[in-house]
Amino acid sequence: MQNTRVILARRPEDTATPDCFELVTESLSALGPDQIRVAVEYVSVDAGTRTMLRGEGFHQQVPMGGTVLAGGVGRIVESNLTDWPTGTAVAGGLGVQQYADLSSAQLQAIQQLPATNLPLQTYLGALGPSTGITAWIGINQVAKPQAGEIFVVSAAAGAVGSVAGQLAKLAGATVIGIAGGTRKADYLTETLGFDAAIDYKSEDLSERLSQLAPNGVDVFFDNVGGHVLDAVLDQIAIRGRVIICGAVSQYNNMDQVTGPSMYLRLAERQATMEGFAFFHFPEQIPVAATALEKLINSGQLTMPEEILEGIDQYPRALEFMFSGGNLGN
Ligand code: NAP
Repeated sequence: MQNTRVILARRPEDTATPDCFELVTESLSALGPDQIRVAVEYVSVDAGTRTMLRGEGFHQQVPMGGTVLAGGVGRIVESNLTDWPTGTAVAGGLGVQQYADLSSAQLQAIQQLPATNLPLQTYLGALGPSTGITAWIGINQVAKPQAGEIFVVSAAAGAVGSVAGQLAKLAGATVIGIAGGTRKADYLTETLGFDAAIDYKSEDLSERLSQLAPNGVDVFFDNVGGHVLDAVLDQIAIRGRVIICGAVSQYNNMDQVTGPSMYLRLAERQATMEGFAFFHFPEQIPVAATALEKLINSGQLTMPEEILEGIDQYPRALEFMFSGGNLGN
């Protein structure tokens, strides 16, 4: 049996272009006595992956020549562990490869999926830890938007942002999404029911924000950082909350992160800025999954998915996301 995987061939200096990766195909060895073999069906293409390609940093790192790390879903095709029978659907860190051989120690980070009517890839999208579940935790444990508040989210048409905005809307907030391009802006208002969208690529972000939120922004759920964060900080409301979920605009050059130059607005407006990561709330992950599944099944939550077929497409998919190509997950 052959396994094709995507390895890191060169550490990117700026954008992670496809030439930073290589595809290798090797024969799989026989399964060990405490191992299972998973046929990977989908892998997640996440903004945070870029920070794992540097060789140092906050996230787990991909070694040179190592398989690129990614959340995945698949089915067990061979097993030497009775608790992990063949045919079971699983999700977790499977890596960008066709087959993942996992030992019992590695299985602590792998979840057996319940029998459900949802397609497997939903566990990487609306129900994925670094996508829908991150948004749910950010909204319910950190941002806590209230009815009537002005809630702004950046990378609003992305995997995390689109769910965060929909959850804030369900909480009764007035939701404004910031996204690149008219296709995304239209999608936010016409399909996801956001109250307004700002296309930061063709509109003046500060001007539009002051029109849409003349009394300031109560909650900013930031996925982007950089000048987008500064523009919203400048218009934060008295006692407003800025939630740092991520800073995708900074990931290509983490040695020279551009910090917010408008942070003194926090003092002027008695506002706060707080960061979070979903893994700081492990007990909330199953709570989030149950709540999100209910919302999906009742049609209250939509997660668009961009799927590129074939493992050889992974490098292109990562580049596609950083150039803003993806709508949703
Ligand atoms: P995503 O939003 O689906 O895709 C990234 C989007 O960011 C792109 O579609 C693009 O949208 C925008 N973008 C890319 N480069 C940009 C730039 N230079 N300036 C402005 N916008 C840019 O990605 P995701 O995986 O869902 O991640 C979203 C954020 O959540 C990231 O910051 C990620 O690190 C963070 N995150 C946090 C946690 C946590 O636990 N805190 C967990 C997972 C992810 P536009 O076309 O709209 O520009």
